[in-house]
Amino acid sequence: MRLEGKVALISGAARGMGAEEARLFAREGARVVLGDLLDEAGEAVAAEIREAGGTASYVRLDVGDEAAWAAAVALAETTYGKLDVLVNNAGIVRYAEGDAEGLGDYDRLMAVNARGTYAGMLAAIPAMRRAGGGAIVNISSISGLVGQKHVHAGYNASKGAVHIMTKSMAVQHAGEGIRVNSVHPGPIRTDMTVDAWSDPALRQRAERATPLGRYGEAIDVAYAVLFLATDEAAYITGAEIVVDGGYTAQ
Ligand code: NAD
Repeated sequence: MRLEGKVALISGAARGMGAEEARLFAREGARVVLGDLLDEAGEAVAAEIREAGGTASYVRLDVGDEAAWAAAVALAETTYGKLDVLVNNAGIVRYAEGDAEGLGDYDRLMAVNARGTYAGMLAAIPAMRRAGGGAIVNISSISGLVGQKHVHAGYNASKGAVHIMTKSMAVQHAGEGIRVNSVHPGPIRTDMTVDAWSDPALRQRAERATPLGRYGEAIDVAYAVLFLATDEAAYITGAEIVVDGGYTAQ
């Protein structure tokens, strides 16, 4: 199994891509700590993993809260002995609707997506040092690479911040055996995008903009995250993998 012996912490793992990554990681032998604000859904995913023979625990984690990050990392270390992998997946989105009114949405997007990702790395790195190394996968977006007419500029800014902070942290922690990479999903069918993919006109617009002609599924992204988390990616750090059906290739 590709993550045999590894311990992973995944933020935003109660649903969507984070939940799919937790399931896949567990199938590949990792012991997984799932963090989220949605306690009932998060506990249910962890229970589902255990029923399937895997090892998983849920912890309440608001990525804006340093103490909650410390507790999640401590849970990984006390329950499973160490922390090898962090997936900074939790995120929120806003769409552009005419002129933005004030800075509220911008601040919220930056707080969860950018600051929350940085907070996760700060909390995880000392534990990874104790474990002798580690792998961090930050979930950015195609919105961190290109501007989009229908997306709030604050979302692009937050995901662009995740893209470049991944490279800073990769360079700064390479000497400690800690790899840091980013994954950039295109339109993926999750709860976050349900309004878009369940509306025939919006769905068609996204599919037309995507050379592979369809919405991605959470598992499409999870496989890329898995690769970066494993030792197969031992010589990859500060890199980005786009999982977007060709969206940004045109
Ligand atoms: P989702 O809304 O289904 O899941 C996101 C999870 O993050 C939820 O369980 C939510 O409760 C959790 N979360 C939100 N704020 C949190 C906080 N402060 N602390 C802890 N958890 C929090 O979304 P998804 O589509 O699975 O998105 C996962 C990641 O992928 C996000 O970072 C998102 O920005 C990114 N992304 C999504 C798409 C897409 O098309 N769905 C595309 C590109 C990037």
